[in-house]
Amino acid sequence: MKVTEYFEKAQGKTLISYEVLPPLKGGGMQAIFDTLDPLMEFKPPFVDVTYHREEFIYNIRPSGYYEKTAIRKRPGTVGICASIMHRYGVDAVPHLICGGFTKEDTENALIDLNFLNINNVLALRGDARKFDGKFIPEPDGHKYALDLVKQIKEMNQGKYLDTNIENGEKMDFCIGVAGYPEKHFEAPNMSSDLAFAKAKVDAGADYIVTQMFFDNQKYFEFVEECRKMGINVPIVPGLKPITKAYQLKSLPRLFYLDLPDELVGALEKAGSREAIREVGIEWCTTQSRELKARGVPCLHYYTMGDSETIRRVVEEVF
Ligand code: FAD
Repeated sequence: MKVTEYFEKAQGKTLISYEVLPPLKGGGMQAIFDTLDPLMEFKPPFVDVTYHREEFIYNIRPSGYYEKTAIRKRPGTVGICASIMHRYGVDAVPHLICGGFTKEDTENALIDLNFLNINNVLALRGDARKFDGKFIPEPDGHKYALDLVKQIKEMNQGKYLDTNIENGEKMDFCIGVAGYPEKHFEAPNMSSDLAFAKAKVDAGADYIVTQMFFDNQKYFEFVEECRKMGINVPIVPGLKPITKAYQLKSLPRLFYLDLPDELVGALEKAGSREAIREVGIEWCTTQSRELKARGVPCLHYYTMGDSETIRRVVEEVF
């Protein structure tokens, strides 16, 4: 079933969903099951699986020269999706990115997903590779998530890149896209970012999932601004509990977000590892309760492999 159909069927009841990361190359499927097994009793209708572009590593050769090699550290998104659907009987939402994909690669990836009966995707641009400094698309790839949404929409109409294909099978993808309550870091301002979010929805995106945030007010304002602009699709809040002291610095750096003074103060005062985790759980629980009370369509938890913490939050809220 499509993600948006779950929202419609829920008739205003808040659903729950999770995001998991493929294990590092060399790891097995059990890591994903270990994360999800303790969380599935809360009945998420769907689980997202992230996609990770290749990165470059530099190996020193016997001659002394460095050799640049591309590696995919976390392969397996599509296989993991199929496995999740099979084991738990829920839908899986693979993330599909522009980075590293030509339009042809994207078309082939969508064909694979369709054959596997996976008809939900989260369409993203992807981040810049560490050594690139800025996002560089493939020569025949998409520069923005907007163009990826357009290609998926075309395939939903049976339009393939090869125009000789007549009466091609129509796909039926439900398309999610990313949204940023605190603005995407590259956007010059919020209104520019919102205009591009609207373009993704106008092009066919069916719902938005937000970047994590720690101040619900930012989410409420984002939704309000989206509605004013005529973005009327469901907007799903993305949440993550803070569990470690270093995240006070790493989360703002990696995700370009602001942590509220009250949360920072409580975490700084907490002292021990366990106390820090308790503060993070309590904060996320309070956020979740308020969002649920306000009737958000779904609470989407970034698990990052930590099912125990997510379970503590979800047990309190659902
Ligand atoms: P876009 O919507 O393309 O926007 C990128 C920037 O360009 C924005 O600043 C926007 O304002 C601007 N822009 C958009 N369209 C245009 C245009 N036509 N002309 C000019 N400017 C434009 N990354 C991964 O690699 N793998 C994942 O699995 C993954 N999952 C994610 C899940 C969620 C819920 C979120 C919020 C993010 C995820 N990301 C993932 C990170 C994401 O790829 C990055 O945030 C990336 O930098 C932007 O992706 P986007 O799809 O929002 O890009």
